[in-house]
Amino acid sequence: MVKKKVLVTGGAGFIGGNFVQYMVKKYPQYDIYNLDLLTYAGDLTKHKEIENEENYHFLKADIADRDAIFALFETEKFDYVTHFAAESHVDRSITDPGIFVKTNVLGTQVLLDASKKIGVTKFVHVSTDEVYGELDFDPTTFFTEETPLEPNSPYSASKASSDLLVRAYHETYGLPMNITRCSNNYGPYHFPEKLIPLTISRVLNEEKVPVYGDGKNIRDWLHVIDHCAAIDLVLHEGVNGEVYNVGGHNERTNLEVVKTIMSTLGRSEDLIEFVADRLGHDKRYAIDPTKLEQLGWKPTYNFEKGIAQTIQWYLDNKDWWEQIISGEYQKYFEKQYTSK
Ligand code: NAD
Repeated sequence: MVKKKVLVTGGAGFIGGNFVQYMVKKYPQYDIYNLDLLTYAGDLTKHKEIENEENYHFLKADIADRDAIFALFETEKFDYVTHFAAESHVDRSITDPGIFVKTNVLGTQVLLDASKKIGVTKFVHVSTDEVYGELDFDPTTFFTEETPLEPNSPYSASKASSDLLVRAYHETYGLPMNITRCSNNYGPYHFPEKLIPLTISRVLNEEKVPVYGDGKNIRDWLHVIDHCAAIDLVLHEGVNGEVYNVGGHNERTNLEVVKTIMSTLGRSEDLIEFVADRLGHDKRYAIDPTKLEQLGWKPTYNFEKGIAQTIQWYLDNKDWWEQIISGEYQKYFEKQYTSK
């Protein structure tokens, strides 16, 4: 039997990396292709356990490089595309929006053109709830798939732009697709510039933990393994052309998250340092995932279980995050956070 080929873009990053491992283990009958440029956010050391598996393949390429992407698609003739590759950090988009447009918008368009040309069975575009803008603090309001797109940061604007291109390729050319919009992910291999791994790594090193503004902004946390299961379901069962929101029913203020990590590790809250707020900082994100639940998905992690396991993972995998927070990352950190 000819094996189906599944392309995972951004499979050296946090969520794409977890998805590659999940797919390689779950589907020996598929060939899984991890395509990644290996930017600062990508590393292959996370794939030691699967790198010798017969159904795992790595391709180094820039999704915005039209010639390289077309050549790969024509050679490999992928059946499915799951598109995670992106510039993903809001703070970096505020200081340098250009690369976000290049990778997230132009890169997605190149992938869409190549997918159209070879006629893929399904293109799953992994997007974010941030395209909907922000909610106020009323706990009865949620983002649904019908919420208008009102992105506020250069990052979310670039993701919303790519969502609209995916929609347009479906409407205009009939490209089979789904768009997923998820809330904030957490779990193993999360790059230490993001709130949870930043806090864990700094607390473990007895360093101050920067918290933006008053720390009251709310995020809705989704364990990365629950997210992988959602993408798997949408890839196989998603109704062509539909958008699905993915959320974990786990709303927490940033300050609550930081304090939970400190108390789990038995460290003092004196390490908290409030710093100048992020420009245009969205107040609250919260997802209504009913549509995806009706398709058969439900989150399996509550936040307490998930955060305890994640902290343990960072304790057990110090080598991985210590190599990341040395060198270039230190310079980024110092530039980014200025005390009030
Ligand atoms: P990440 O930054 O950890 O990983 C991104 C990966 O993409 C890296 O491996 C990087 O090397 C690769 N990449 C970047 N530019 C590339 C290019 N031009 N060509 C090929 N590869 C390139 O990101 P993540 O947190 O894993 O996010 C994955 C996807 O999920 C993104 O599309 C992001 O917008 C979306 N998302 C993330 C979250 C979250 O909480 N992390 C929430 C909602 C949506």
